[in-house]
Amino acid sequence: MLPGVIALLPRAVEQVGVALIRPQVGFVVVELSVIVSAEPNHVLIVVWVAHPEMVAQVRRARRGRGGRMGHMREDDARHLERCIELARAARDRGDRPFGSLLVGRDGQVLKEAMNCEVTERDVTGHPELELARWASRNLSPAERAAATMYTSCEHCAMCATAHYWAGIGRLVFALSGIQLRSMLPAGAPVLTLDTRDVFARGNLDVTVEGPFPELETPARAVHQGYW
Ligand SMILES: [Zn+2]
Repeated sequence: MLPGVIALLPRAVEQVGVALIRPQVGFVVVELSVIVSAEPNHVLIVVWVAHPEMVAQVRRARRGRGGRMGHMREDDARHLERCIELARAARDRGDRPFGSLLVGRDGQVLKEAMNCEVTERDVTGHPELELARWASRNLSPAERAAATMYTSCEHCAMCATAHYWAGIGRLVFALSGIQLRSMLPAGAPVLTLDTRDVFARGNLDVTVEGPFPELETPARAVHQGYW
């Protein structure tokens, strides 16, 4: 996506404004990423736009790097359910509700991790970052390429980058970043750069699978009432 078009519009013409932007710019509207109150009787609308060819390129990249949704293998379901358990455990001890684990080529669970942002007083204490760093220290490049990272919620941009540099060959997540953001209160900090978009900029092949409708309810439940 390209930098957004920002429009300050009276509430009454919100939809009209979006409709006008599309033909004027010649790009397609991808996402309304932020809508916040700017001043009385107005709203600030940030419209993410992209050229149609760029949208097509991203879609091709997503298909090429795996985009399986809704057809879970038994082992994928089992590992994701464990990630959600870890997210619940993290929440129960006072951390944020995220959990992840790393599985090797033979299907063995190599390491589990929970969010530790609160207990470790570390804003980068995301479980996926911990696993990527552990993998780089303990696994060979070939072992990392054959490994799968499972996580209760899709990577943030930081963890996607760490996953990429660790050379872990596959990512499977239950809840998407978009789904998580839909649960956050208005004004909460967000970073709308999702994992497939990060990986699409690289030249390493990383398979990404998720979200899975079968697990949406439990994956959302662990966040309900937290944010
Ligand atoms: Zn993260």
